Amino acid sequence: MHAFFQYLSYKIDVTMLHINDLHVRISGQEILKGINLDIDPGEIHVIMGPNGSGKSTLAAVLAGRPDCQVTSGTVSFMGEELLQMKPELRAAKGIFLAFQHPVAIPGVSTISLLKTALNEIRIARGQSALHAAAFLKLLKNKLKLLNMNKDFVQRAVNDGFSGGEKKRNEILQMSVLDPRLAILDEIDSGLDVDALRTIGQGIQQIKHKDSALLIITHYPRLLQYIKPDWVHVLNKGCIVQSGDYNLALLLEKEGYDKLGAVGKDA
Ligand code: ADP
Ligand code: MG
Repeated sequence: MHAFFQYLSYKIDVTMLHINDLHVRISGQEILKGINLDIDPGEIHVIMGPNGSGKSTLAAVLAGRPDCQVTSGTVSFMGEELLQMKPELRAAKGIFLAFQHPVAIPGVSTISLLKTALNEIRIARGQSALHAAAFLKLLKNKLKLLNMNKDFVQRAVNDGFSGGEKKRNEILQMSVLDPRLAILDEIDSGLDVDALRTIGQGIQQIKHKDSALLIITHYPRLLQYIKPDWVHVLNKGCIVQSGDYNLALLLEKEGYDKLGAVGKDA
């Protein structure tokens, strides 16, 4: 085959995220015990599972949290080895993690954090940094899209924010940074019905055909706004079941135990 066509077929074939037999320890204890998962551009994957099953650990290891020790397995992102990359390089390559428990940064305004984060990523990608006016224009559009008040971004990051505001701030960050793969760790937890709808619709607006989502959730409530292509059940560090949206509905009805979603013992 001509080299150019080989290159083209490689580009078509390449999976966005390819996790192969991933084992992870935290503080000497094995938390993830052989995860296999492929995510392609445009896809929405959901990971559900009981508390303590390793969902946040999976998110953390993909974002590069230093206390996650990978003992075996590989992860590639856009055809490149991910695990050797520093967290900031992962972000520049297009991985975004919305935290389950966003931290407050008193003294740093939300707007300056967003501008710094976006420009760091742009520079790492070889693009020029956005100047104030261009950034403000972009931000204004994003705020409008998410139905958010512009006063919000003048406040210090998550400082005194309500649970719903913190989650909305994570979605605003995602919207500004426009990641290839966004990992949302329990973005829906602690939200009332209205906040859940705002977040769900916001995510739907941001999502486009080249970006992928990995949504981690304990409850399927958010999925009425964002229909997943795949639903996986994680238990005791293993993916024990995979299916479509119907699996999430079944889990809501039957609970994790009844479905036999029980992993190997540690
Ligand atoms: P989930 O998000 O599914 O609730 P986690 O990934 O947060 O689960 O946790 C999985 C397991 O790893 C739990 O048993 C938890 O106690 C343990 N774990 C998580 N973080 C740490 C840590 N920093 N030190 C020790 N154990 C941890
Ligand atoms: Mg968690």
